[in-house]
Amino acid sequence: MTSESSIQEPLSLRNLDAISVTQLKGVGEKKAKGLEKAEIHTLLDLLTFYPRRYLDRTKEARISEMVEGEEAMALVTVVKSTSRRIRGGRTMVNITVTDGDSNLELTFFNQAWRTRQLPEGRKAMIVGKVGFFRGKRQMANPVVDLVGDKTGRIVAVYPQSEKSGLHTWDYVEFIAEAIRRTLPPKGRGLDDPLPMSLLDEHDFVDRNAAIRGIHEASSMAEMSAARRRLVFEELLRMQLVLVMRKRHMEATEVGTVHSPGGPLVARFHDRLPFDLTGAQSRAIEEIAGDLAKPFPMHRLLQGDVGSGKTLVAVASMLAAIDGGHQAALMAPTEVLAEQHYAGIRDLLGGLEVPDPTSLLGDRPLKVELLSNRTSTPDRRRILNELLVGQVDLVIGTHSLIQETVQFNSLGVVVIDEQHRFGVEQRAALREKSGDVLPDVLVMTATPIPRTAAMTVYGDLDVSVLDELPPGRTPIVTRWVKAPGSLEGEPSLELEAMWSEIKEQVAAGRQVYVVTPLIDESEKVEVASAENTFERLMYDELDGLQVGLLHGRLSPSDRDDTMERFRRGNLDVLVATTVIEVGVDVPNATVMVILDADRFGIAQLHQLRGRVGRGKHESTCWLVGEATTPDGEARLQALVDSTDGFELAEVDLELRGEGTILGERQKGRNDLRLASLRRDKEVVVQARRAAIELVDSDPGLANHPVLLDELDLLLDDDEASYLLKG
Ligand code: ADP
Ligand code: MG
Repeated sequence: MTSESSIQEPLSLRNLDAISVTQLKGVGEKKAKGLEKAEIHTLLDLLTFYPRRYLDRTKEARISEMVEGEEAMALVTVVKSTSRRIRGGRTMVNITVTDGDSNLELTFFNQAWRTRQLPEGRKAMIVGKVGFFRGKRQMANPVVDLVGDKTGRIVAVYPQSEKSGLHTWDYVEFIAEAIRRTLPPKGRGLDDPLPMSLLDEHDFVDRNAAIRGIHEASSMAEMSAARRRLVFEELLRMQLVLVMRKRHMEATEVGTVHSPGGPLVARFHDRLPFDLTGAQSRAIEEIAGDLAKPFPMHRLLQGDVGSGKTLVAVASMLAAIDGGHQAALMAPTEVLAEQHYAGIRDLLGGLEVPDPTSLLGDRPLKVELLSNRTSTPDRRRILNELLVGQVDLVIGTHSLIQETVQFNSLGVVVIDEQHRFGVEQRAALREKSGDVLPDVLVMTATPIPRTAAMTVYGDLDVSVLDELPPGRTPIVTRWVKAPGSLEGEPSLELEAMWSEIKEQVAAGRQVYVVTPLIDESEKVEVASAENTFERLMYDELDGLQVGLLHGRLSPSDRDDTMERFRRGNLDVLVATTVIEVGVDVPNATVMVILDADRFGIAQLHQLRGRVGRGKHESTCWLVGEATTPDGEARLQALVDSTDGFELAEVDLELRGEGTILGERQKGRNDLRLASLRRDKEVVVQARRAAIELVDSDPGLANHPVLLDELDLLLDDDEASYLLKG
């Protein structure tokens, strides 16, 4: 390539990534250090350092026209800046600002640094609610943006951090220079990796327009068009990696071809005392489709507590057993493993499997439990029978795949209540099973919204149980707005709650009381649980049989208490969140959650799922005073809905995607603009586009620029696995 022609060629992101920001005019040693602290080293970093928000100056107001009680925005200059101590050791900062005609008083409490941020003569955009005080217009704690004097109609405000020492106007200046040098008319322009067909289909602006529009838009509409395109691009890259990985696994991993239509599964279905729900049938069918394929299944089964996931899991495992293979079910705790064992042994009792070594040609299907309470001789026997294939189904905790358990032929693995089943576990499985990988079904009762699932588990298939078996009486949830610590005089509402609870106990029902969640330490949490227990026993619940359960009890004490509750010898179980997952006592119909505002939506929903498991109507009492609008919204959501999927949507709305992404996406975050919350439709569009692209061009050989960008922008582990491997 001659240098002549390379001048004509548009710049790739990799080109931009090779140009240091120190090449820019105005970036001297000191500013370069600041940029470095903000992790901006190259023009690519700089041009993808996006504004935090925008100020639309067409909305700007004159101070003299500001209306009391309304929010207003103005570009102002500081006239006077003072700070003083007031009562209670607090500081009050008073700043007088002007728009050239009139003055406005700004007050800040306990923010002494404001006098340094806003010295006399500094220009700032301020946004806040207008008040009047002693006849003067004023704002208390307004939002302040130091925007410098380079202000267009739309002012981009960049994230600033103390440590970089750079202001938003520094970024405006550097980015303007970078844009001047790279985009037309002066610069070579940026290469666009998106196929024309996609630009057309979605009416996207090209990359040049997008980069200019996100930084230097002259209208909010231009900015939105730029954003829409850039968001799509980010989500597309993520989906491409996920879809490529999925297709790659399908192409390279070898699994067992099961025949899910076998007699064992049919006999199992015949013996069930009820009909499957539509959702269960659908999920079983989807799984059967996977099992029959030559590559291993990777499927996530999402379903609310009580939606009947176990049946779906058992049907899947039987399909493997029918073909002479084995199945393993892994639960997160020993208690849950034991519960599964008891339940599944009952479900499968009396079923036979073919056995060529037996005279009759059949033997009973064999289910075993491996727990830390399995005696050594039993363990030895079970391990041996697993090795030779005489145990068909083994149940245990997640340690099953880590331990020295060897299988004769492991066909299906079911993992209960677990989101994280990642690369490591797959490697462990591979070691267990040699070249042929088992089919894997991961089950979770903490649903996440569809679009989030697409992003977080985009390399898995997802089945959803969105229907509860018939005949359940929905749980009524009530919120008592009183201190959840139970301190002080009990309110009438609380007294009414306890007396209703005593009526329930008198009618033979049982009650859980979950004690406040305390982050500090388990020790403090236990102390608080003990306090609550004692208080309830001598006061509100005087005369009832009350037990206490927490994480610091010895396992045998814990089992003992749990057993007494299960048998009905205890009326009330006071517990920390140790009862969150899986405990199943159908006669327990009341759940009281103290300090409920301290729990997240998902956790509250899980806790509530401990009741409503029998034929009696159940109630969940949330006790707590929400101190924030979010807390209020969380508790109200629980009162309004018992649908885990609906609640997951609310949770995403309230908390944002960070927490969801955090689980699996630590290094992968190329999402700078995209929000799983705001950009749900785009996630779906990007997924569809990624599937089309990969299925027509599996290695992206015809889209080299796009391919190169995956390598450049996505985490090493993610991309290199596909691109270099
Ligand atoms: P999950 O694991 O999804 O919380 P389970 O599999 O434990 O739910 O099922 C909850 C209860 O519902 C069990 O007692 C189970 O026997 C029962 N169940 C499951 N499927 C059905 C159905 N189709 N009709 C009636 N009851 C069902
Ligand atoms: Mg379950």
